[in-house]
Amino acid sequence: MLIIVGARTFVKNLWQGVHTCRRCLGRYPHDLQERTEWGTLFFVPIVPLRRERLLTCHHCGLVTKLSKTEAEQFLKP
Ligand SMILES: [Zn+2]
Repeated sequence: MLIIVGARTFVKNLWQGVHTCRRCLGRYPHDLQERTEWGTLFFVPIVPLRRERLLTCHHCGLVTKLSKTEAEQFLKP
């Protein structure tokens, strides 16, 4: 029997807004995305393998990895 396993990445937009960039040192629009890599069986996502939260500056393109706690700070009202 042939078993097909693989991995697939899903991207979820968590937040968009103005934030102070670490490189530009100015306040510019940023995106906060959660990228989750799933292990698949017959192309169906079964188990999450890796999850990362990335903050991207629209002005300079700097991408910063955030911890879960740091990302949650952006989601508070
Ligand atoms: Zn920047």
